[in-house]
Amino acid sequence: MGRSCSMFPCLADPARRSSLFLKMALVTVHLIYAGVLFLFDGGLIEKTRKEPWYTALYLLLFVATLVQYFVASLSSPGYVLDAMRAVNERDAVYRKTYTTSKQPASSKNGNFIVTLDGSQLGSSLLGSNSTSWSKLVADLYPPGTTIRTWTCTYCNVEQPPRAKHCHDCDKCVLQFDHHCVWLGNCIGQGNHCRFWWFICEESALCLWTGILYISYLKAYISRACYLILTNQTTYELVRRRRIFYLRGIPERVYPFSKGVCRNLYNFCFARSSIYSMERLPTLQELEEMSMPHTCWDVVACRYC
Ligand SMILES: [Zn+2]
Ligand SMILES: [Zn+2]
Repeated sequence: MGRSCSMFPCLADPARRSSLFLKMALVTVHLIYAGVLFLFDGGLIEKTRKEPWYTALYLLLFVATLVQYFVASLSSPGYVLDAMRAVNERDAVYRKTYTTSKQPASSKNGNFIVTLDGSQLGSSLLGSNSTSWSKLVADLYPPGTTIRTWTCTYCNVEQPPRAKHCHDCDKCVLQFDHHCVWLGNCIGQGNHCRFWWFICEESALCLWTGILYISYLKAYISRACYLILTNQTTYELVRRRRIFYLRGIPERVYPFSKGVCRNLYNFCFARSSIYSMERLPTLQELEEMSMPHTCWDVVACRYC
């Protein structure tokens, strides 16, 4: 771990390391979730050959969801500290420009020396003892509210309304929504829309993949039920013509079947021994099985 930390400095921080592993785990889960279908679902593979646009559309949504995940995960939620810096810097530039235009610049050795004096801006613009951010935040609260009520007790910055300190990020966030552990990021003013798009895309992807799984498992489960109710094995179904004692038996005759209900009962409850063996039906029994089904057979529950 120490060697990998020296190669990748981002792995040195435990919080960043766990966030990175979580992202890798989520991407892996997505790949496995969709990959299983493309590896084992014969119906989907066949559909991909016939209608490639269908799979292309699915893969497009898959990639877009992962891209949106990283975009939402890596984008800033809008930290109060960054906003404060931006406001103060902007006003410092404004203050510099204002002072330069008001004061005569003197030239010394060919260089312009600019004297900055914020107090000359007057209390009408910034106030002599408070920063631009403090003034801005104070104006957002009703008059009479004390500065102590909107100052964060953890990072000591002045919070505008709707901002909150996130204990996971250890920063104050503008329009704090929540801290998403799956993204490893806060959701706030800066990335709320991206997060919403990610949720939409992820929901659509899960729904689509779920439908693909249902259709895949439906065929699989239907076949498994059919085998149980007719007392057949997959091998007997697939290789029927190669098994010598089944070769001459008509397709719709199931030689080991004892009726639907008894087959089901035997499959679920009557397996007293794993070594119980079944005999082949006699020719007379096979003839009886081959006889066409009548309505009376069904009413009399002959095949139950
Ligand atoms: Zn804070
Ligand atoms: Zn957070």
